[in-house]
Amino acid sequence: MTIKAKNYKGIETRGALTENADFEIYKCKICGSYAIYDAETLLIYTNPNDLHKHSLYAESTSSPGEFKVDCLICGGTNSFDEAPNEDYKKVLNSPWSFVLE
Ligand SMILES: [Zn+2]
Repeated sequence: MTIKAKNYKGIETRGALTENADFEIYKCKICGSYAIYDAETLLIYTNPNDLHKHSLYAESTSSPGEFKVDCLICGGTNSFDEAPNEDYKKVLNSPWSFVLE
């Protein structure tokens, strides 16, 4: 189970595209910072203050298993994955809290 980001209004207000979106909370495996990922468009948003910025987060066809998106906080590459359900409260205490409201 993943944590869904359901505040589409808030997400849209900060610049993301929400049409037909299916947002999940993602987490950097290295530093623990969060992101939101749209499973429909395969876009990942790593900056909670500016959702105009996004990157395609899809597996590279030439190197399977590689996801070339850098973490804004730690600079890690290939480090984002679904955040576990237990992280719900941590997300509420993070700059991403607005996506759950
Ligand atoms: Zn990181």
